[in-house]
Amino acid sequence: MDLPPFFFEVHRDMPRQGPGSDLSTRRALCLAGPLPEAPAILDIGCGPGEQTLCLARATGGHVTAVDTHQPFLDDLAQRAAAAGLSGQITIRNQSMSELSDPDGAYDLVWSEGAVYNMGFEAGLRAWRRLLRPGGVLGLSESVWLTDTPPAAARAFWDSEYPAITSVEENLALLARSGYRLLGYFILPASDWMEGYYLPIRARLAALRPFHAGDPEAEAVFAMEEREIRMYEEHGDSYGYAFFIARRDD
Ligand code: SAH
Repeated sequence: MDLPPFFFEVHRDMPRQGPGSDLSTRRALCLAGPLPEAPAILDIGCGPGEQTLCLARATGGHVTAVDTHQPFLDDLAQRAAAAGLSGQITIRNQSMSELSDPDGAYDLVWSEGAVYNMGFEAGLRAWRRLLRPGGVLGLSESVWLTDTPPAAARAFWDSEYPAITSVEENLALLARSGYRLLGYFILPASDWMEGYYLPIRARLAALRPFHAGDPEAEAVFAMEEREIRMYEEHGDSYGYAFFIARRDD
């Protein structure tokens, strides 16, 4: 996806780059069931790494965090150091479609709000080999919550991520791609608003006075505000589902 440079001005130094919360990360981890002591974890599309830190804390394991946007990775490195977690986290600038780890390297493969960059099914298929047999995948993905979404929401998703589909279809894709479902849940609205959109809205308000009349900045402000309003008006018709599944052999 091509994003204008000003997009990153809005998004830098944000706790998260998509809907989520520590509570939801921990809830998903519970559904993963018992893990080995100090599990090996891969966090794909980690962004600034809120869930990376949570995974390291909650499991006591080692998390390899990968993303392609270096400023997010720099941010994560700082946050990990400040939290005293640097020793548990390896940070790597690498594309999710070109992961170089050996087969079976991980007990847990994790990805919050990022698999859409390569597509849900493509991610499921490409990442399966990274799990040891019986290893667990946890990933969140946008879904329709109704068969009859309002036209405005449909138009929005047609332009943002036309591959968005139903929970049922994603469950079928998981089964077809070699995973057995352990559980799933829909992220609460607070994961969208408090976790993601309200910090962005505050950032927009802070930046606006400095960029009046700048067309690129104003286009980004409008795009962000449109996305937040869409959620406020039609967020009951779509959401994020967190799927937790075991590699099925
Ligand atoms: N998991 C984080 C970030 C989600 S936003 C959170 O929930 O806060 C999606 C992330 O995917 C961004 O950080 C973006 O830089 C990253 N990304 C986009 N394309 C990518 C690719 N090809 N490989 C790896 N990461 C990618």
